[in-house]
Amino acid sequence: MLRDWGSRDQAFIDLTAELTARLLTVAHGEGNHVAVPLQGSGTFIVEAAIATLVRPDDSLLVLSNGAYGERMIAIARRLGRRVEALRWPEDRPVNPISLDQALFSDRSITHVAVVHCETTSGLLNPLGEIAQVVARHGRALLVDAMSSFGALPLDAEAMVLTSVMASGNKCLESVPGVAFAVIAKQALLAARHNCPSLSFDLYDQWRAFEASGQWRFTPPVQVVAALVSALRRLEAEGGPTVRCERYYRNFKILDDGMRELGFRAFLQPTVQSPIIATFRQPTERWFNFSRFYRSLATKGFVIYPGKLTTAATFRIGCIGAIEAAHFVGLLRSVETVMAELRDGRRTPGEEPRARYHLAPSMAA
Ligand SMILES: *Cc1c(COP(=O)(O)O)cnc(C)c1O
Repeated sequence: MLRDWGSRDQAFIDLTAELTARLLTVAHGEGNHVAVPLQGSGTFIVEAAIATLVRPDDSLLVLSNGAYGERMIAIARRLGRRVEALRWPEDRPVNPISLDQALFSDRSITHVAVVHCETTSGLLNPLGEIAQVVARHGRALLVDAMSSFGALPLDAEAMVLTSVMASGNKCLESVPGVAFAVIAKQALLAARHNCPSLSFDLYDQWRAFEASGQWRFTPPVQVVAALVSALRRLEAEGGPTVRCERYYRNFKILDDGMRELGFRAFLQPTVQSPIIATFRQPTERWFNFSRFYRSLATKGFVIYPGKLTTAATFRIGCIGAIEAAHFVGLLRSVETVMAELRDGRRTPGEEPRARYHLAPSMAA
């Protein structure tokens, strides 16, 4: 990131080519797919993929069991696309049998969209079974794989996925600022002139890469360089399977330890992904989430508020360049903070409003 890349320079053109090649490899899309990066956060690429691939006469069915499924519905509505939803509670996976019935009874549905790992809760949807149903009905499947890409198993070709959308700052462990879609080449070729937005047109974005190897509009060069580095690190670690095992180890230590401390997990183990864990907030009167959060942050651990509509929860992520020792340290801090809250004590050094959160290594 500290190198001053020229966005139209050959070195950066080579870097972009390495980026798309590596993304295709991770997605198992080397045969029939193309990788199209886009400036922006994850939502940008979800919006761009829907805008580019779903035509005005098409009909999109969104399978939703959390905030990110709902976001795809909102995006399609904004774009003026025909959209319907099949919904499940936030702790229930998408049911492929209901999907089968929906596709059987409504022939007008052309596209199906689903979130692979619903980061709202940490729930893992059965992507393989969903993809089989969609392929059997000959419809197109768009997958928001934001929080699973690079760790959980996904095969764009074998699963016949029309589009896989993700970003660099989740399981790829890079910095935010670039997102991408891995799209079936035939579907993208058929999507010319379809996108109502100029900047979000992934067909045009792809044609520019094809024509010159360059980005259509100014790329965040440092962010792209970081993502290529991160993809090299993923390969060096042993690829998604090995990375996923590390996340599982993280998750297991966290889950066991939190249960031991008396916390209750929100999800059943059968639907739990190793990406992020949701815990119910303790119901004791002395528990106060913002103090819990701030005390942990003072100790170097920044957790995540809950995003569920139904229950008071909080979340702890298991992804990133973190491993067992970090979770052992986290659990020790959770235990300390809970004792402080129970006894009405304050963390030594805890500011009422912590302004800077330093990782322990940086604070040292
Ligand atoms: C993070 C995430 C997104 C995108 O969020 P941004 O804030 O736009 O980066 C979309 N879907 C899922 C499942 C996610 O986890």
